[in-house]
Amino acid sequence: MAATIESYYNITEKVDRLRAFYNKYGGEALFIVPSGLDRDALLDIICGGDPYFGDRPTVWTVGDLYKELQRITGSSVRVIDPPDHNLILRWLLEEFLSEMEKDGVALAPGLYHKGFVTVLGDNIKELLAEEVSCEGLSQALFDEEEPDPALPEAVLITLYERYTDYLAEYGLADAAQIATLTRLKLNAPEALEFVAGKRLVLAGFLSFTGAQLKLVRALCDIAEVLMLQPETGLDGFHDGISQLGSEYYGRPEWNVPIVKLEASNAYLELEALARETALWIEGAGGFAELGGLDDYGEVGLLISPDRLPVMEYALSRYKIPYNIQVRGTVGETLAGDLPSMIWRVWNSNWDNYNTAILLANPLLFSEEGGFAAEYDESSFPEGYDEWRRALSPSARKRLAEIRALCLAFEKGGRPADILSLWHDFLEGADAVGGAVRVASGEPSLDERVKDVSHAIYELKKKIKNLNDEAKYIGPAAGVVLRGGDAAAFISDWGRTATLPIQLPQSHSLTLYAGMPPILTEHRYWLMAGVDYNSWPGMLRESLLLRNDNKVRFNAGSPDDEEHPHLPEIREEREQKEAIFRRLLATGREGVVIARSLTDASKDPVAESQFVAPLFKRHDPKRGWREAGKVCYPLDAALPDGDGPWFPQAEIICTPVSPAPTHKVPEGRADEEGKPVVRISDIDTWNVCPYLYWCQSRLRFERPRTELYDPRVAGILSHRIWEEAIQAKAAEPKLSLQIYVMENWRRFKDECYPALDADPRLARHEKNLMRQLFAMAAMQDEIEARIPAGARLKIETECALEGFELNGALFRGQADRIDYYADGAVVMDYKLGRSAAHDKELQVPAYCAILKEAGIAVQGLGWFGQRDCSVSGYFNGGYFDIYAAGGTKRSRQSADERMEEALSVMEQMAESVKNGIYRPKYDVKAQRCKSCAFYVLCRKRETQGYIAAEPEESEGNGDE
Ligand code: SF4
Repeated sequence: MAATIESYYNITEKVDRLRAFYNKYGGEALFIVPSGLDRDALLDIICGGDPYFGDRPTVWTVGDLYKELQRITGSSVRVIDPPDHNLILRWLLEEFLSEMEKDGVALAPGLYHKGFVTVLGDNIKELLAEEVSCEGLSQALFDEEEPDPALPEAVLITLYERYTDYLAEYGLADAAQIATLTRLKLNAPEALEFVAGKRLVLAGFLSFTGAQLKLVRALCDIAEVLMLQPETGLDGFHDGISQLGSEYYGRPEWNVPIVKLEASNAYLELEALARETALWIEGAGGFAELGGLDDYGEVGLLISPDRLPVMEYALSRYKIPYNIQVRGTVGETLAGDLPSMIWRVWNSNWDNYNTAILLANPLLFSEEGGFAAEYDESSFPEGYDEWRRALSPSARKRLAEIRALCLAFEKGGRPADILSLWHDFLEGADAVGGAVRVASGEPSLDERVKDVSHAIYELKKKIKNLNDEAKYIGPAAGVVLRGGDAAAFISDWGRTATLPIQLPQSHSLTLYAGMPPILTEHRYWLMAGVDYNSWPGMLRESLLLRNDNKVRFNAGSPDDEEHPHLPEIREEREQKEAIFRRLLATGREGVVIARSLTDASKDPVAESQFVAPLFKRHDPKRGWREAGKVCYPLDAALPDGDGPWFPQAEIICTPVSPAPTHKVPEGRADEEGKPVVRISDIDTWNVCPYLYWCQSRLRFERPRTELYDPRVAGILSHRIWEEAIQAKAAEPKLSLQIYVMENWRRFKDECYPALDADPRLARHEKNLMRQLFAMAAMQDEIEARIPAGARLKIETECALEGFELNGALFRGQADRIDYYADGAVVMDYKLGRSAAHDKELQVPAYCAILKEAGIAVQGLGWFGQRDCSVSGYFNGGYFDIYAAGGTKRSRQSADERMEEALSVMEQMAESVKNGIYRPKYDVKAQRCKSCAFYVLCRKRETQGYIAAEPEESEGNGDE
């Protein structure tokens, strides 16, 4: 029987034909489609997309037909899945490499590379699909001669032969052999009878592999076949019709408009696609040239899988409802990269970089669990032990589990054992729970949770299959994988295990992240990334079977119709152009092809070579026409204010209304009675009244991010000086240094016990001790310079109360006052450098109060612990006594500083009485630069604000 062949542009043109065929033949009709994903598409076309309550048409792939013939004939050959295909090849390759090594054959280094199994697998699949025999290939390439075993073609032939022998020995078949096996099944009378009783429709096959072509010829010999062949408009393309030596019948006509979209970079390209689609539904924008858009459900959009997140983000920003129709593999889920990430950490011996990346993985480590609670990021842990010390107990437990997993990998196991280890680890870590936490409150992330859950389901299924006697794949299942090979095996499995496809949703744009099913159709079709790098992209000849060898093989028996044919580079390019055109044909009424003008390295990218020929038609009835061009140069990234504007998604670069004036916030605190001011707050108020309001009135605290607490260290230091100075006052010959050294442990235990208890503070403890001992020694030197009997007394922590100025009461406590016959010297102890404080007014304010009380002030200054120094303002000979660690003489005197302090105290009293505190926005001031309240005071909204990196505060932690 001969086949009836009809061609079409878009499968919807054949709706009536398909329905009529089904109505006529009912259960006798058998529809065969190229892939499993096309089953639903064809069912929808035949049943009209409506609920269908009658018997459903039988739509199968060739694989389904093979299964049915197997059932009828009782055959037991089992078709393996891609992970098994890889396992068998890996096993055969390892065996082959060790044989070659033993024989002293030097092979090309690429054969030892991990990715070589994939290259080998692709070549073998091609040979199987074209029904090329080992003998035929060997004969064509080497004639009768014994080839050099190191030659790539000889390696391919050897491994191809071993692979097919292996499959035959264990009753297995590769998926690429299905067409061949189906044809061979037709030799059985039961199978023949079954097919002969059917009316076959082959829908959507663009061209056939050698094995498929032989099967189609065999089917045509047995049954009545209707072939619905897609057209490409390419003259001379070797499609199914010409492969069968038939003629075109009932040819379609088309004249579909295409709009080109060009953007200056890949990100803008996707943004522009979303933006123009949002404009289109409003009847505006460049895509409107294609016709009206009434419903987003009329649009299909194709992008590459790696661009899916950016496309989703752009669509959501422009509020375009969408559904994703082509899903990826387990390797693309949140769990996909984990095996290699974990192995990198193990290999790097838990280095800081790789371990920090792993810690950021939400499936294993959750912020909620407080893993980082004790982590001081400035400590840069390296190595397992340091990381353990740096993390919280829950994170430590997870680290131990990861370590145990890697040790188990090192020990090795069969593929099923390795996958079981991985499964138990993910279950133990509650990876699905981790995904739920990531997605919490964000419905658009629900799919990610389902993906992780499905990845674990697939893992369980694969382990069951590998352990199933009935699904035994021979000794390859028992190969022992160790270390990096074990981790790589899990990743490889993830790349081949597919995820389920979402149910389609009406009224929403359909996003295809990868090749859509062949029978897909939409009113409008949008394609991103249509540039030279992708269409045709780089077509490389195989390293194992070079193009000239394919040409030699094909030239073997030119007159023999049955002689297999291997696709040459030229034919692969033609095939790619045909596929490109068939993708365009997905759009019934219009197409958009989008591209970026530059690649990831900012180099210009040319237009696809397939685009220009679309518009140069030889056949006026069949082709595409250019309907417009939309350009998005970089300066169109922001709308200019004159054109349409999506306020929820875009900002505009030209203001359309006067900029709103910045509103300066005010802190307010009403005073009841006479206000009381702490003198230690003067400097804060002087830097910024708003900061004073936040800290002293609202009692907001700067969040502490480090383990070491300078405030507690300040209390410890003050306690030491208070006690040591009192001891010195009682016993003038006492050495401060010896006193501090002898009592250091007691001071620590009383004021900052964590310094000893926590090993992470050891570094800080050592620093603090060194600084305190050095400063005690420096004070001993100062003490030695004070003439005997000159100092009358020393007071520490002296309260200065009840000083009233401008209606406010000032209150404070000086660290230390040395009294002499002619006046007093007031000193303050600081943890930081002394010079960082010499512009402060707190100590001059104490002095001003003393002066008001009738006590002359001969000097005021600061001891700086960090650099063991003194800064200050000292009269006459007092400078020589107190100067230490590089004290500079100042042009200002202590009296001038006191006047300054009084003036600021007066202003502060006024402010406190009014209860109004405005920010000063002194962005050059150190405290303003590193201030924690910059959001509250709206500092960054002020005109001319320039963000400055916060610098380390000089007065770090001083109290
Ligand atoms: S950021 Fe600057 S202006 Fe704002 S509160 Fe802090 S110190 Fe004041």
